[in-house]
Amino acid sequence: MKPTTTPRVIIRHCEQYDPEAIRAIVRAGLDELGLKPHGRTLVKPNLVTAGPLFPHAHTRPEFAEGVLRALQEAGGDAISELAVGERCGITIPTRHAFTNSGFDAMIKRVKGVKKYYFEEEKQVEIQYSHPGRLRDYVFTPEPVARADFFVNMPKFKAHPWTTVTFGCKNYIGIQDDRHRLIDHDHRLNEKIADLQYIIQPQFLAIDAITAGEGRMLTPKPFTLNLVIMGNNQVAFDAVCCAIIGIHARDVDHIRLSEDRGFGTTDLAKIRLSGDVSLEEAQRRAHGFEVGLKRVEKYFEGSKITAYAGPPPETEPTDYCWGGCPGAIEEAIEILRVFDSQCDERLKRLHVVFGAYSGPIDAKPGEKVVFIGDCAQWEGKLGEQVVQIRSTYQNRGTKDPHNAKHSDVYGKLLSVRKQVGEAKGEPHIRLQGCPVSVAEQMLAICELGGAKNPLFDKNEAMGFNKAYIAWRAKMAAKRLGGHKYQESGPTERGEARPEIE
Ligand code: SF4
Repeated sequence: MKPTTTPRVIIRHCEQYDPEAIRAIVRAGLDELGLKPHGRTLVKPNLVTAGPLFPHAHTRPEFAEGVLRALQEAGGDAISELAVGERCGITIPTRHAFTNSGFDAMIKRVKGVKKYYFEEEKQVEIQYSHPGRLRDYVFTPEPVARADFFVNMPKFKAHPWTTVTFGCKNYIGIQDDRHRLIDHDHRLNEKIADLQYIIQPQFLAIDAITAGEGRMLTPKPFTLNLVIMGNNQVAFDAVCCAIIGIHARDVDHIRLSEDRGFGTTDLAKIRLSGDVSLEEAQRRAHGFEVGLKRVEKYFEGSKITAYAGPPPETEPTDYCWGGCPGAIEEAIEILRVFDSQCDERLKRLHVVFGAYSGPIDAKPGEKVVFIGDCAQWEGKLGEQVVQIRSTYQNRGTKDPHNAKHSDVYGKLLSVRKQVGEAKGEPHIRLQGCPVSVAEQMLAICELGGAKNPLFDKNEAMGFNKAYIAWRAKMAAKRLGGHKYQESGPTERGEARPEIE
């Protein structure tokens, strides 16, 4: 069933991260929208990453506290379980993101709120049958599949792969890493549109008090002083887009979601209310920088020279917006935030993506890194003739049933091994589709001499603690006979794009 309620978006002023003020705003929003949380109420924040390096990457805990308290109040006894669930990004244990973001401490304060680290939960299969789908089934954590009242609580941010990350894009965190990285390539926008079939939120509230511009992991803070709420994901995203001056239909995953009946981007059909007009919100957002910069341009003037050809020719695009090129942009920004001398410290590197056929201007001693399975190139590096062939495998060969977990330490070892094997060679090939942010960050450290944040003593202790707890829990589950992944359809059968 497709959404039938009138799409409504409420734009409210919020001066600061005051949980009580946010609670009052969200409570009023729920009442205005006529929503009563009930049953298994699940809140999905954006905790893609958190900690001192990433202060503006995630939904703030004060914001979440206000939302959770408002839900508790509005739902009362109708709520059987109130939970916050997330799978954070870049292969980091979600436990670490909950601790580093302040969510752990906040959840203790609010009381009666459960946590779900999605990669530690049973994954259930959701079947797709809609036209244009990338695959016939995907997996999502059980708490998402079983939620009765789903609340999407993103952070208002730009995104280098998908232009923006508002409501629809926040769904990338409703899959564990094994499944999230499947189709996280030049078809990423289609993947996000497909994820909409898993569940639709009854309520959205975005943290736009301090928004994040330019990037998604290390965005620059941009003050908007807004709390935006809504009852329809596509309409909600359309209004957020309008606030920063872009048309929602220019954002592929929103356009596809609209075309599939998940809501309208037509502002004339969306009922707007609140104490901030759209025009006033637009005035506040004037100059907000979105993502979407090709990798060659991104690295102009730095010690990294990037070259990009098209991803596999059979696919309908000339650039892999959702995969390896965007990942290296995020990787270098993490290294820059971690070490302000990063650019001075770096050795010159050349990075090549896709089927690139032009020259590579590498001087003797400068390493050329071919990144991703689809990289291909022929030519001479120094006196050596080099022929890089694509090893890209069609997505039809990737079965989510067989998706394997690959943790950050495994990636670290794999990158180190590849770097070791390429010692003395003018080039190196990093395999994967995609090669993740974590792997590319590690490769830049190993090859370019940048400082590795994973070896930072302040970071390492908390990270390792979360990592050990996560792996121990998974081992205990396996020993206890728990099935981590469940084949076959969920009890609900086909996915359910319902709005009540
Ligand atoms: S290998 Fe990388 S660049 Fe190539 S299609 Fe896959 S994600 Fe895109």
